[in-house]
Amino acid sequence: MSELVRDLLRDLSPYTAVEAGEAVDLSDNTSLWGPPPQAVDALRGVNSAVLARYPAIPPAALNRALAAYAGVREDMIVVGCGSDDLIDCAMRTFAQPGDTIAFAVPTFSMVPTFAAINGLRAYAVPFTPALDLDVDALLASNPRLVYLCSPNNPTGTALPRSTIERVLREAPGTVLLDEAYGEFSDAPGFSLARSTERLIVTRTLSKAFGLAGLRIGYAVLAPALARALETVRGPYKLNAAAAAAAAAALTDGLSWVQEHATEAVAVRRRLAAELTEAGLAPLPSDANFVCVPCRQAERLGERLLARGIAVRVLRGLPPVTAALAASNGAALRIGVGPWSVMERLLSALREEGAACA
Ligand code: PMP
Repeated sequence: MSELVRDLLRDLSPYTAVEAGEAVDLSDNTSLWGPPPQAVDALRGVNSAVLARYPAIPPAALNRALAAYAGVREDMIVVGCGSDDLIDCAMRTFAQPGDTIAFAVPTFSMVPTFAAINGLRAYAVPFTPALDLDVDALLASNPRLVYLCSPNNPTGTALPRSTIERVLREAPGTVLLDEAYGEFSDAPGFSLARSTERLIVTRTLSKAFGLAGLRIGYAVLAPALARALETVRGPYKLNAAAAAAAAAALTDGLSWVQEHATEAVAVRRRLAAELTEAGLAPLPSDANFVCVPCRQAERLGERLLARGIAVRVLRGLPPVTAALAASNGAALRIGVGPWSVMERLLSALREEGAACA
């Protein structure tokens, strides 16, 4: 990288997504069911007057809808350009350069990147073999900020509520709980945010709500912290068209979203059972994807793509479970979608003679 660039950026590179092309894309955990029709209608209703003006701050209808959805006061909501934006801003709001951010690995790949960009010291602790947190090891770093991801990307596993509560009791600073996949499990973030001062919960409309293309994320946190986060985020990160679609998705479109999230969970269970039947060993998942440790992940990923199905190939994951040790840290992360798509995936895997030993 050029010497003109800040030193701490030298080892970083831009995020790359899987190039799915014409393939069915199961690589990024977005929704194959798409957005609720009410959100699409709201987007069509955005007129030129709305486009010509800056969006309202705060986006009143959206904040109202989010507060009702989360069961919190409106002054506990901060919206952003995807939850990425809020995770990045939270690091700048609640930690200073040189402070430590502690998190368990493997986890969301952008976290070490945002930490580095914000000048934080990243302290990564492997998950336990049961994919729970090693709380003592995390807190031994005296972190200014703890990042928890539940359900976790890329493993899919959710943390027990008691583990999250212990971190909240014992962490010396603030705790960022990333619940991007919260709609696919019994996620405790909203209820914890109502009673805990030092917690920032981030969520997104990119997954269960099927609106990844519009980039809508939000944080739920105590009002005083919300004001600080809002200051750091700055104005106008969420555009007016996205705000209109999001408000519709959270009100008139909400039952549609919830029905499809329930279907995604049913598909996930069925997919995990069929993969196990086929001799593979998916990790337990509470998200809208499954993670399958697999020595042959690279080759299988290529073969599936050749058959028109894009999945995420993961390499170099820390060997925290016996299966990840056996696979040398390689795995496939496979998003769920309508069962007809899963059938295509399963028959492609069978035809490839997928065995992950
Ligand atoms: N957190 C986790 C755990 C994720 O997997 C993702 C997206 N893959 C995000 C946050 C960011 O999502 P978005 O910016 O679309 O809200």
